[in-house]
Amino acid sequence: MKRYSAFAIAREALRHHTGWDRAWGSPEPKKSYDVIIVGAGGHGLATAYYLGRNHGITNVAVLEKGWLGGGNTGRNTTIIRSNYLRDPSAAIYEKSRSLYETLSQDLNYNIMFSPRGVLMLGQTQHEVRAYKRTAHANALQGIETSWVGPERVKELCPIINIDGPRYPVLGGLWQARAGTARHDAVAWGYARACSDMGMDIIQKCEVTGIRREGDKVTGVDTNRGTIGTKKLCIVVAGHSGVLADMAGFRLPVESVALQALVSEPIKPAMDIVVMANTVHGYMSQSDKGEMVIGGGADGFNNYTQRGSFQHIEETIRALVETFPIISRLKMLRQWGGIVDMTGDRSPIISRTPVEGIFINCGWGTGGFKAIPGSGWATAEMVARGAPGDLAAPFSLDRFREGRMIDESVAAAVAH
Ligand SMILES: Cc1cc2nc3c(=O)[nH]c(=O)nc-3n(C[C@H](O)[C@H](O)[C@H](O)COP(=O)(O)OP(=O)(O)OC[C@H]3O[C@@H](n4cnc5c(N)ncnc54)[C@H](O)[C@@H]3O)c2cc1C
Repeated sequence: MKRYSAFAIAREALRHHTGWDRAWGSPEPKKSYDVIIVGAGGHGLATAYYLGRNHGITNVAVLEKGWLGGGNTGRNTTIIRSNYLRDPSAAIYEKSRSLYETLSQDLNYNIMFSPRGVLMLGQTQHEVRAYKRTAHANALQGIETSWVGPERVKELCPIINIDGPRYPVLGGLWQARAGTARHDAVAWGYARACSDMGMDIIQKCEVTGIRREGDKVTGVDTNRGTIGTKKLCIVVAGHSGVLADMAGFRLPVESVALQALVSEPIKPAMDIVVMANTVHGYMSQSDKGEMVIGGGADGFNNYTQRGSFQHIEETIRALVETFPIISRLKMLRQWGGIVDMTGDRSPIISRTPVEGIFINCGWGTGGFKAIPGSGWATAEMVARGAPGDLAAPFSLDRFREGRMIDESVAAAVAH
């Protein structure tokens, strides 16, 4: 595959852009693969990429029922941060954040990583205590975060009203090297690199059944025929329970819709990401000028990729107090994704009761930031047949053993 570079752009400009290769192929499924990954979201594609790059395994197919990146990966608000409380979470999210720093160079694809800084507002005494505790934990974990007072909050984001009538801003947890990236580009960049390594990314290929001989996996049934494999990695976010059911085991995961919206584009108004978890809303400004606003998850289980009106109202009503300028904006569009929530709000990266089947799920409302680190850890587990240090704490056993990784403060309502 030809490299993208300033020279390539100049060359193609001279020949009317007729010489670009397709970014990834559109192959027919082969009879079998060494590894099949179900789900071409960011986590599935990153797993494939690191299988090839770190472990030399390239006879890999990524099967996607829709289009790549069409699940939560292309529907999120793109917040990247690693200011989690527990050591295992901090380790995997920081690994991920640090991989994001150089991902554009690694993939030779501009994923538009923008380390503009993420500020999590403290608007109750409880939040102040929790975030100060997180800042201390992060210091021990080697993650650069700090607790800042209200004056610094105002400096960092002048449009914030720090004297809100219900929830004044008492300070914030600031991570300067956190930020955003272009979500589709993350999926596209990984897909291009995988395709370049000879892997098959097969879109419009839905897995409809999982074949087993005894307690070993032998392949999958799809709408494009049966495909054999001895290693199957299920990475389907909100549909994880459905795939687990096909394989004959159950998962401690619930699926709910989570939604977001964007305003009409306006002039530059804020250059950081702000999360206001007490009022339950978070906001950043896209390069196009739209205010990107995320809200809460539905309070009931469902598989709909649509938003609901009451959430838009709730989110905006809450945010207007902290960001009065948004009261005059028009909403441009709104959407939803199906997120997979675990009880302790931490992911699952694990072997399963079926030999040869691995699972990566449970990223819930906050897995975009984890894509590179999760792919790295999952690839290691699939290649070796057992999880390495990053993935081991996130195994399914923790639910049986009561070894929860409680991130409900960092992740329950946040992204
Ligand atoms: C509104 C919203 C805002 C969010 N904001 C943030 C944020 O700011 N920061 C953050 O870190 N995270 C955020 N998230 C969470 C983040 O988007 C997800 O955790 C992450 O994208 C999950 O990626 P994935 O690859 O696991 O899943 P997905 O991207 O959903 O990919 C799974 C894929 O599996 C495919 N699939 C399902 N069933 C089958 C089948 N039977 N056969 C074949 N393919 C199948 C689906 O079509 C899908 O493409 C947000 C999510 C939403 C919905």
